[in-house]
Amino acid sequence: MITLQGKGVSAGIAKGRLYFLTRKSQSVEKQHINDVEQEIRRFNAAQQTASEQLNELSTKMMDKIGEENAVLFEIHRMMLQDADYCDPIIKIIRTEKVCAEYAVNTAGSRLAQEFADMDDEYMKARSIDVYDISKRLIDILSGEGQNLGRLNEPVILAADDFTPSETAQLDRNTILALVSRQGAANSHTAIFARTMGIPAIITFGAFLTRDLSGKQAILDGETGLLYIDPEAEIVKELEEKEKRQRREKEALEKRRGKPTLTKNGRPIKLYANIGSVNDVDAALAGDAEGIGLFRSEFLYLGRNDYPDEDTLYESYRRVLEKMGSRQVIIRTMDIGADKQVDYFNLPKEENPALGMRAIRICLTRPSLFKTQLSAIYRASVHGNAAIMFPMISSLGELLHAKELAKAVRDELAIKGDVPIGIMIETPASAIISDLLAKEVDFFSIGTNDLTQYTLAIDRQNDSLASFCDTHHEAVLRLIRLTCENAHKAGIWVGICGSLGADLTLTKDFVEMGLDELSVEPSCILKLRSLIAEC
Ligand code: PEP
Ligand code: MG
Repeated sequence: MITLQGKGVSAGIAKGRLYFLTRKSQSVEKQHINDVEQEIRRFNAAQQTASEQLNELSTKMMDKIGEENAVLFEIHRMMLQDADYCDPIIKIIRTEKVCAEYAVNTAGSRLAQEFADMDDEYMKARSIDVYDISKRLIDILSGEGQNLGRLNEPVILAADDFTPSETAQLDRNTILALVSRQGAANSHTAIFARTMGIPAIITFGAFLTRDLSGKQAILDGETGLLYIDPEAEIVKELEEKEKRQRREKEALEKRRGKPTLTKNGRPIKLYANIGSVNDVDAALAGDAEGIGLFRSEFLYLGRNDYPDEDTLYESYRRVLEKMGSRQVIIRTMDIGADKQVDYFNLPKEENPALGMRAIRICLTRPSLFKTQLSAIYRASVHGNAAIMFPMISSLGELLHAKELAKAVRDELAIKGDVPIGIMIETPASAIISDLLAKEVDFFSIGTNDLTQYTLAIDRQNDSLASFCDTHHEAVLRLIRLTCENAHKAGIWVGICGSLGADLTLTKDFVEMGLDELSVEPSCILKLRSLIAEC
C-alpha cells in the first residue's frame, strides 16, 4: 500500500481505479507559415468558435454548478477577446511567421506563468484559467475535442491539474473523485468539485506518478489522504466512515426547510456568512434563513482602484435579489488590519490590528463611506437589507456613523425600513452595550475580534495558538453581558464570529438567550438539529 498526503479541498470518500488524464493536444508543433494574414484569420475564427462554445457551456452548466459559478465561462469569453491575451499571440504569428497553435501555446503559457508567479493567492489561481482558454483554442485549431476520453468504469481521475472547463463538464456518474499534482484551494476547480459533491484532493506534487494509473485506490477528501492498493483494514475504516457520514447527512436533511426552535420552542435565526455574490448559492444550499454577515470589504480587495458606486450596488442588488425575502445584513467595509488594500494608501502602522481599520477609516473618509452607504440604500429596495457597522468602540462613533447614514438615506429619499446594527467585537463595545443598544436595531457579536482584543492575542499569529483559549471565561462573560443589555433594550442579538458554529457552546448560547447565529453554510443543518435538543 502507498499512502499519499495531499490537500483535501472537497470532502467525501471515494474508492475505485485511478485513471490518469491524458490530454489529446499536449504537444504543439512549431510550424512555419507563409501567409501571415491567413493565419491571423484562422486564429480569429478559432476565437469565434471558442466564444460560441463558452456561451453554450455557461448556459448548459448553470443547473450543474450554479449560475454564479457558470459565470466563469463568461469571464473566459471576455479574456479571449482581451488585448492582453490576444495581442501577444498575433505578434508572435506576425514576427515569427508561425502557426496559430504555436503562438497561442507560447503566449498563453507566458501569461499563465505571470499569473502563477504573483504573490496574491487569488491571482495565482487564475493561471489555470489562462491555460484553460489557450487549451480550448489549440483544441479548436488542431481539430481535437475537449472530451476526457472514453471510460469503461467510474474512476478516480488524476491529472497535473484540472481546468475549470474540464471539471465543470465531468460526469458525476463516471468520475468518483479528482486528484491532482498541483492546484489551489480557492481555484474554480475546487469550487466546482465542492458544488457538485465530487471529493477532491490537490497538491500531491511529483508523488502522484503516472505509473499509478490503473491501480486500485481509496481516498478521503476531508483528510487529504490517498491510499494506493489499500490494505483491507483501511478500506473497512473508510467505508465505515462513509456510511456514518451518509447516515448523519440523511438525518440532517430532514431538518431542511424546517424552523429552528429550541427544546422550549424559542425560535433562533440561523444565518450564513458570505464574502461575495458567489457565496449565496452555498448559503441557500445550506438552508440559511438569511445572511448574517456579508463581509463587503471583499469587493474592495484584489483591485487596483476603488470600486465605483454602481459596481458595489450591483453586487448588493444581486445578493438581495437572490435571497428574496430573507434578511441580508451588509457589514460596511472592514478594511485595515489583516485586510490591507494598497490603493487606500493607509499609513504604515506598527500595530495595524489596533490602527486605522473599519469604521475608523469610514469616519475619517466620509465620502468613501457615503459611496458605500449610497450603494447599499439604493440596493435595499431589491430585498430585505440591513446595515451593520464594524469595530464600534464608543457611542460617539456610532452616532457619527448613523448621522452619515441618515444623510445618505435622506438624500436618496429611501422610504423602506433598513435596520441598522453594530458588531460587538471590542471589549469596550461589550461593556457599554447598554448605551449602544438604545441606538441600534440589533447587535452581532464578532467573536473573532472580541477574543483577539479581550485576550490581547493576535488572531493572525499561529504561534500563539496555545495561549488562545477560545472558551475563555472573559469572552463568555462579555457575550452574556451583551445579550442581557440587548434584551433589556428590546433588540435582538446574534453571533457572526467563528464561535457561533462551535457546537460545544451551542447549549450555553441558547441558555444566554442569543437570537441568531451566523455561520458557514455547511454548519446550519447541524446547528438546527443540536438547538432542538437545547
Ligand atoms: C469577527 O471579528 O468575529 C468577525 C465576524 O469579523 P471578521 O472575522 O471579518 O473580522
Ligand atoms: Mg471582526
